Amino acid sequence: MSRHSRLQSSCEKSFQFTVDCLPPSLQSALIMNTQTHDALPSVLPAAKKLRQEDPQRIETGSGASDALDTRSEDSVHDIKIMNNKQNHLARIPLELFAEILSFVPSPRDVLSVARCDKHLCATLVRRSSDFIWRQARRNCRAGAIPDPTPNWTEAAYAAWLFDAGPCEMCWKTSKPVHVSYALRVRLCGDSACHLKYGRLLITAPPTVAGDAVTGWLVSVESGRFLNAVKPELELPTTVEYPKMDKYYRRKDLIGAMDAFSQASSGDQSALTEFLVAQEDKARRMPIIMKNAVALQRWRLDYIAKTKEIRKSNDLLGRCFAGNGGWDWAIMNATQTFSVFLRAHNNSLQRITNGDFEIIRDQVDLEITNLTRRRRRKQEEKSYAQNRARVALHYQRMKSAGVQQPMPSLLEFHRLPVIKALESSAPQEPTVDEQLKDEAFLKDTLEKDLQKWRERARARLAAVLGFPDWNTTSNIKLHPVDRLTARFVCKLCRKVAKKYEELGNLDFAGACAHMCPHLDKRQRAKYVWKPEQFAPDEKAIRAIKQLLQQQHLDSEDPDSALMIRGIEPKILCLSCDAAIVMDFDRLCMHSKRHEDMQLKVLRPSDVATVLKLPVEKGLHAQVTGQSYQTKRLRALKEYGCRHCLQKSKTPPEGKEGSSDVPSPSDPAPNPESPPESMPVRPHGKLWDFNGLQSHAKEKHGIEMLGDEDFYRYTLPTT
Ligand SMILES: [Zn+2]
Ligand SMILES: [Zn+2]
Ligand SMILES: [Zn+2]
Ligand SMILES: [Zn+2]
Repeated sequence: MSRHSRLQSSCEKSFQFTVDCLPPSLQSALIMNTQTHDALPSVLPAAKKLRQEDPQRIETGSGASDALDTRSEDSVHDIKIMNNKQNHLARIPLELFAEILSFVPSPRDVLSVARCDKHLCATLVRRSSDFIWRQARRNCRAGAIPDPTPNWTEAAYAAWLFDAGPCEMCWKTSKPVHVSYALRVRLCGDSACHLKYGRLLITAPPTVAGDAVTGWLVSVESGRFLNAVKPELELPTTVEYPKMDKYYRRKDLIGAMDAFSQASSGDQSALTEFLVAQEDKARRMPIIMKNAVALQRWRLDYIAKTKEIRKSNDLLGRCFAGNGGWDWAIMNATQTFSVFLRAHNNSLQRITNGDFEIIRDQVDLEITNLTRRRRRKQEEKSYAQNRARVALHYQRMKSAGVQQPMPSLLEFHRLPVIKALESSAPQEPTVDEQLKDEAFLKDTLEKDLQKWRERARARLAAVLGFPDWNTTSNIKLHPVDRLTARFVCKLCRKVAKKYEELGNLDFAGACAHMCPHLDKRQRAKYVWKPEQFAPDEKAIRAIKQLLQQQHLDSEDPDSALMIRGIEPKILCLSCDAAIVMDFDRLCMHSKRHEDMQLKVLRPSDVATVLKLPVEKGLHAQVTGQSYQTKRLRALKEYGCRHCLQKSKTPPEGKEGSSDVPSPSDPAPNPESPPESMPVRPHGKLWDFNGLQSHAKEKHGIEMLGDEDFYRYTLPTT
């Protein structure tokens, strides 16, 4: 909720609160006026603003009143004109307005009305409106509030008595737990603040200066306050000024004593002058103390009355809830009833059956709505919990690895059995435990998954060009299980981390694929479709060539096993250099050439071509995100195979050229190194970033692979 709307709602509550305190005949008049308040001003009233600007002024009373008055008198006319257009309350003559407010049971209510609007504030803080506040003070149900000392304005006095304010020690704003009216101190509920403040209070020493300053310096007025801050004194709580030891603020006392000592150290006339100057303070001191004592007594009654009223209203409220068949906590949380109860509590008024009858229907409606809203929230929460538990189970299934291929988590959530489980109420055992332990659920989930897989199989086979594949023969592989089943996503062209070195997806990868570029909202709408994939033609052509050379058929169930068994010995004939790779890198490498030509080397030839063996997984190892991989990348140990394994005779026709090394005539013959071959056996070495720049610039390779480079650690000398 924004500050403006918070303030607006607090203003509305203030009005409601005021209205509740009024006799029914006047309530309707006030309600009519507030309802036409189309926009309650977002400004705080002048009094509050002024207090923020200069807390001292309002604290010291008269200064604030003057400032407020001057400001009000000057601007009241303009404000009236400005507000009259929308504020009907401003049109009420002051006499009638005062009559309405004469029924409020506390100056706190007048304060609330004053804070509703600039005009009301300007009207109520004027000296001429003091009688309204006085009447409100008299009306207080916990006993009349003592008259303020002359240095207070009525508005500032009411604010001081009823507003929350900062704790003198920790400066946290809270309703004061302990107050000394004479010292004008508020303390919060924290006992540490009390004890800390207690250490600041001392008695006057039995010296001439000490005796003298007690004549005009204000001290703590009640034993109750002193007990809270100096528990070691163990004073009876009823003791009060003047029948108690006088405790002063250390700072005030020492300042006053120093001033006295300074004056008395000079001649007699200086001392006399000083004492005359303190006379005014000395005259005011007993008045302030008397008022503070009276306020402390009133405050005790007020707290007691508040407790009593709250208890009785609470009991009656529970009765109403019981009679209406409502839950007390929910009833108490409704807007109408909570305002009703708070307004009565604040104005120390008991709620009655008659009062409640007026709002009963509205409360009933709000309880129904609130119950519905809470139930919906609960359902949403349990749905989210169930979903999280399903995700946990999904991860467990995936890491177990037996259920391959698995759909993506998003698709998994959409399986019928999972959907039904997620929307069920939360219970023991939890959804993931049920899925793990209950045989029926496990079976149903397996059936759902099987159905999903079959659909995915048939449709992905269609993508590969086998729309009506249907065979039960077990000597023929399903198109999606063959080596030639390689897919790319047409929507994102991206692959999961696991497939990064391969550059395309197999059947399981396509099933689990979820486009990574989607935001939360798009992901909720995203539906996995086999038709979003396309066959990776270049890779498939290269694989077919490989199978052909190995005299294997992609339909053969053993083909995958046999191909994967071959060590890195696929030689690219389309590269300038003799680049050798294994099957996994073939897919990614094939993307570099329009029509990649390859040859499978004999094991003996591999050793001749490769001076340094291909390290599987080296690229993935150096491109990780960890701190270690960053350090690895910085090592100057990486060499370029495109330079090191350069063909002896540069190929003329690149693609499928016959000049490429053949097993019988391997290109980089170690005995007769090619011209560009460096003198050193390991070739030139770079750090990994340097190598990348070199490969891009020299060989036009954007993304290196295991087959493109080697790591060579120089022997330490
Ligand atoms: Zn505090
Ligand atoms: Zn995608
Ligand atoms: Zn190549
Ligand atoms: Zn190179």
